Amino acid sequence: MDEGPFNLVIVGGGTAGWMCAAACAAKLDRSRFRVRLIESEEIGTVGVGEATLPQMKDFNDFLGLDEVEFMQATQASFKLGIEFVNWGRQGDRYVHPFGTFGRPIGEADFFSYWVRGRNAGVAAPLSGYCFPIVAALQNRFMLPNGDPNDVRNAFAYAYHLDAFLYARYLRGWAEARGIERVEGRIVDVARDANSGNIAAVALASGTSVAGDMFVDCSGFRSLLLGGTLGVDLDDWSKWLPCDSAAAVPSVRSTDFTPYTRSTRRKAGWQWRIPLQHRTGNGYVYARKDISDDEAAATLLANLDGEALAEPRVLRFKAGKRDQAWAHNVVGMGLAGGFLEPLESTSIYLVQMAIMHMLTLLPSRDGIDPALPAEFNRVMDVEYDRIRDFLILHYIANDADAPLWEQVTTMNVPDTLAGKIDRFRQRAFVQAYRDGLFGPPSWQAVFVGQGIVPHAADRLADTLPDDLLADRLGNLAATIALGAKSAPSHADFVASYCPAPAP
Ligand SMILES: Cc1cc2nc3c(=O)[nH]c(=O)nc-3n(C[C@H](O)[C@H](O)[C@H](O)COP(=O)(O)OP(=O)(O)OC[C@H]3O[C@@H](n4cnc5c(N)ncnc54)[C@H](O)[C@@H]3O)c2cc1C
Repeated sequence: MDEGPFNLVIVGGGTAGWMCAAACAAKLDRSRFRVRLIESEEIGTVGVGEATLPQMKDFNDFLGLDEVEFMQATQASFKLGIEFVNWGRQGDRYVHPFGTFGRPIGEADFFSYWVRGRNAGVAAPLSGYCFPIVAALQNRFMLPNGDPNDVRNAFAYAYHLDAFLYARYLRGWAEARGIERVEGRIVDVARDANSGNIAAVALASGTSVAGDMFVDCSGFRSLLLGGTLGVDLDDWSKWLPCDSAAAVPSVRSTDFTPYTRSTRRKAGWQWRIPLQHRTGNGYVYARKDISDDEAAATLLANLDGEALAEPRVLRFKAGKRDQAWAHNVVGMGLAGGFLEPLESTSIYLVQMAIMHMLTLLPSRDGIDPALPAEFNRVMDVEYDRIRDFLILHYIANDADAPLWEQVTTMNVPDTLAGKIDRFRQRAFVQAYRDGLFGPPSWQAVFVGQGIVPHAADRLADTLPDDLLADRLGNLAATIALGAKSAPSHADFVASYCPAPAP
């Protein structure tokens, strides 16, 4: 058995590369693992990616980062969910929150009692039973208070952040803990003649970096996984036809929302993400339905502050690599796949890939096929579930432009079709063991898109109507009162984690 340290080489220093490096720095036994990260300043990073999911806090806690220091370093603000504007019909608004609806009333899920109350005309809109939605729409924020009986504890939160600053912050953190950074452009890749594994990568400087295992974080290029190993992209553009984005930062507006906003537009949708030092904006669109110039003009015409740069256009294709781990290469970040940022899932997917990779890391003796098989299984589950959830946003709308006609008439994956049927029949949403999203997320988007169940779980039938009306009324009042006790998001950030002027 070879006793030397296991050589792990991370290719790419964007958000994915430095998240992976930081996790290795935090958790791998340094006497057994040597970890190097190669990146090229000449090539740079994708430089977008500002909205996250609550799991990012778990990742930062896993590393042991200080929340205030991290938020200051990344110009971060808080995020309680995503507001969808005009997504069903023009004028519609709903929020997908990072929290639950209601609280236990009886044996059935709260949502089923709400469906009953709605059908009986005694329930307020669903949003009124969700503390993070009520607080967010008043631009208020507080940390969960830890009391399981308090409605002000029934949520999680995520961050809006500058992903470039996050990568830079993690770089300093990881280098201080022994990760070796190698600057240079990879120009060649050497493979082992017997196994087909990657043996080493060669830099333009002539340096060669050998490794036992490579983590491909090279962005859309997918240098090793897609390039050298030829692992194909499973193309999902038939369901998710947007293939471009124009992105532009603008001056921070007075409307400092603790939520991301996504507004449906003619050929896609526009994001708005408030950070401490600026607002991030972008128009995600299908190139077949709008020109780059028109998309950029639409974006600029719909900012709520002065643009700080010219719009930058990015191209992509929805899908994931057929295998995220092939030979001795694990792909993560954009190198492993991409799903449009409608539900802020890319950084989450990086996090999942890192966690599963650390659990399944082989020894120097060789890679048992059981390890990549399990990694690929769980990453497929993660991607498939997010894909279905994204498609759900597209399929029910007033079809007022070619893109929107196309997506309302397309065949959806069977997994999603079954989910919609079960929801329509009995308000049923299965809770997954692995992967995103939980029942409250599905309930929010179903109802927000105008897909409402005919009937609820039968277990909710037993509560008498007057008692049901009473419980629903009390709960909405308690949540409204609780939200009023929270400070404004702007005040909370200014006192908790004020970032220095950039
Ligand atoms: C329009 C858009 C909006 C997005 N919004 C969000 C969002 O709101 N939330 C979210 O979670 N995610 C979002 N993402 C995704 C997010 O930006 C990425 O997942 C994240 O930044 C990770 O990128 P990456 O590190 O994989 O790739 P990159 O940032 O592209 O980094 C690639 C790295 O590889 C290096 N490299 C490449 N080739 C070579 C070579 N030959 N030699 C040496 N080095 C090389 C580069 O120098 C760079 O360091 C968005 C993406 C896009 C396109």
